[in-house]
Order: sequence, then structure tokens, then C-alpha cells
Amino acid sequence: MNDDNSRELYDRALSVMPGGVNSAVRAAIEPYPFFVQKGDGGHVIDADGNRLVDWVMGLGPLLLGHDLPDQVRAAIQQNASEGPMYGTPTEVEVDLAEFVVRHVPSVEKIRFVNSGTEATTSAVRLARGYTGRNKIVVMQGGYHGAQESTLVEGDAENPQPSSAGVPHSFAEHTLPVPFNDEDAMRAVFEEHGEDIAAVMTEPILGNYGIVSPEDGYLEFLRELTDEHGSLFILDEVITGFRVGGLGCAQSEFGVTPDITTFGKIIGGGFPVGAIGGKAHIIEQFAPSGPVFQAGTFSGHPVTMAAGLETLQFAAENGVYDHVNGLGERLRTDLSEIVADQAPEYTVVGTDSMFKVIFTRAGPGKNSLDEACTDGCRQNPTCPRYDHCPKNAADVKNAETERWRRVFWGQMKAQGIFLSQNQFECQFVSYAHTDEDVERTLEAYKEAL
Ligand code: PMP
Repeated sequence: MNDDNSRELYDRALSVMPGGVNSAVRAAIEPYPFFVQKGDGGHVIDADGNRLVDWVMGLGPLLLGHDLPDQVRAAIQQNASEGPMYGTPTEVEVDLAEFVVRHVPSVEKIRFVNSGTEATTSAVRLARGYTGRNKIVVMQGGYHGAQESTLVEGDAENPQPSSAGVPHSFAEHTLPVPFNDEDAMRAVFEEHGEDIAAVMTEPILGNYGIVSPEDGYLEFLRELTDEHGSLFILDEVITGFRVGGLGCAQSEFGVTPDITTFGKIIGGGFPVGAIGGKAHIIEQFAPSGPVFQAGTFSGHPVTMAAGLETLQFAAENGVYDHVNGLGERLRTDLSEIVADQAPEYTVVGTDSMFKVIFTRAGPGKNSLDEACTDGCRQNPTCPRYDHCPKNAADVKNAETERWRRVFWGQMKAQGIFLSQNQFECQFVSYAHTDEDVERTLEAYKEAL
């Protein structure tokens, strides 16, 4: 596959941008990232004219793929050409807020910001301001963006900054615990309960191999935080308007958080984040409350229009049936390929998220060549239940080097664009077709 133009662009980029990229994960493609010229439905065309089936979809925002339907495109173009923004409110912000409030029962009020990171940063400040407490509990292997309170690793006994530049005195307010581990969470609350402002978690870990909650785990977090007067923050930046359709993952799992953070799909492909939740909590944001929060670009009309029209299109056109159907097919057929050719690996995901991770969680009761039957929903009746990862430690040992060789050596060479590393998930869009799925399955067969 010719990539001369990408190489030349990368050389230019390296001399003016750190690592040649504007977001760390992008440089993970080896030997260098390919530059995209344009999108086309479920595909991208790179700077050298190569066509790839795109399962990255902007890392999640592009529920509809690269060809936006007419109504979405028209709304974006109208708002871009008429403004594009004003520093004072517009109707389309209210329209999108009303749409979210109508579809996500836990959200009574919402504030829009410009990225998932901004949403989680504001949510943490809000929880601290509302409760008057400092500590935040997060999951090991969870990701909440590039922000000081969550770039923390280690465990609750010994939290450490996971990036240079994060003061230790910030990290000590963050308590990382293993996902799906009720005992560990109880222990942290026994010791620090009175100081915990919030537990913040993704409903499904989506940045660490796709780890689904075990039955009852999210409800357990809801009850425990209630008992201790802490808030429960669900970070639905990935899962929002993807898992569980317009009700989001919280409707699928039947759990009601105090605060939800959104990003990605809610902005229809433009920079976005949002913090929604119970009215009396969200009202604590300035100017109605004492927790300062502001942004020049927040509620940007182009983003609001793109988000609103994307969600309205999804509501009216069976988008979730399409993406979840293809997701199910990918997971089912990949499970068979993996059971046959690489039984030591695991197919994970649900709805329109999928990934093959190069590890398995444990020895398991059942034969390794039995395929997953429940789309990684942690259903104990699934023959692969014991092999499905339950937390970050189960994913950590994945064969990262092998994954890189197989994927950047072989999947891309066959015209398949998968997420840049072993841990981030992949997404099905409305633009993907049965043919894209078939091509991809063939490529996996070859690569594995
Ligand atoms: N939370 C979650 C769960 C995410 O997956 C991400 C990004 N992938 C973020 C927050 C940060 O969002 P952003 O990259 O838009 O700042």
C-alpha cells in the first residue's frame, strides 16, 4: 500500500507538532499515522488515495458515518454560514437540551461544553462543590479525558499521577479501584466515605478493551453512593446515544446517576461535551450556583445543530437497529473465527462497539473453543463468561506487541482501519454495510 504522501506529511508535522500529532493516541499507528484526505460513507480515503473500511469513526462521534444525511448537512451549513457563533444564546442550544432531557430520564438540566475532558473536569468540580468533599473514586483502566483529577493510577492506598505535570497533591484526592469489584469499593467507602464527593465510572469501560459491568454492579454503585451522601457520575462520553440507543447505557442497565457526562455523538462530529443530571445539582453551576463554569465556544451553534439533527435522524431512521445488528454480526462471526484460529483471544463489545483483545481473563470452566453467545454482557450462562475480562487487570496482559504487528502489519494492508491500540474500542456506523462486515471478517481470518 503506497503511503508516500502520508510519510511526507508526517515529516512536516513532526517538525511543527509534538510527536507530529494533536492527540497522543494518533501517533500509535506504525510506522507513522496515515493522513486522511476524506471520508466516504463507512470508509476513509487516505492521503495516498488508499480506501480503508473505517471502524474508528473519529473515535466514536460519527454514529452516521462520513456521509451526513441531507438534513444534518443542511443544518450545519446554515449555522456555519450565518454566524458562526455569537457569545450569546441561540435557539438550537435549547432545542438540543430539550431533546436530551426528553430522552434521558436522569437528565433534567444540562450544560454544554466543548469536549469530553471539559465535561468530566466540570462534573468533578460540580460534585466537589455540591458535596463540599474532595475525593473522587475512579476505576482502574477507566478513562475520563486528559484532566488533572483522573490522570491518576495505582490504587486507593497509593494513588499516583499517571502523567508528568499532575501534582501529587491533586492525585491524592483520587482513589482508583478495580471495576466490578464490590469488596474493594466497600473497603474504600469504609475508609474514606465521609470525604468522597463522587464515584465516577464509564458504564462500560471503553478505553481499556471494552469491559462490561457484571449484573448488578452499577446498581450497587448507585446504592453505595446514596448511603454515603456521595454522587454517582456516569461518564457516557462513549456510550451516550450509542449503547441503549437514545436512552443511553443508563437506560439499558436500568440505573439512574446523579450526573452524566456526554461527548462524541451528542455533537454530531463537532467538538462537544455536556454535563447533565438532576436539576438541583446542575443548578449549582454558575450563574445559578457557586460552581464556576464557562466557555467561549460552549453551545456552539454549528455543534448544537449537528448534534440535534444527528440524534433526530437516528430517532426517525432505525439507526440503532442497523448499527447494533451489524455489531452483533461482527461479534458473533469474530467469536467463531477467534474460537477456531486464536482461542486464547477474546471478542468483546455490545451494541455497536466491538474489539478483539489479545488475551483472555482466566482459565475458565469451559472449553476455549466455544464462542461467545451474549456479546460480552457478562452473562454467566455464556460459555465464554469466565474468559471475559472483568476489570483492567484482566486486559492488562494483552499481547500488545503482537497486536501491533498483526493489526498494523496486516489489517491495514488489507484496507481495514481499526482503533490505534490494543485497548480502544471500535465502532459501527449507519454508513457501514454487510459488505464492509464481510471484508473485515475475511481480513481478520487472514490476520489471525
Ligand atoms: N470520557 C470518556 C469515557 C472517553 O472515552 C473520553 C475520550 N475518548 C473522554 C472522556 C474525553 O473526551 P475528549 O477526548 O472529547 O476530551
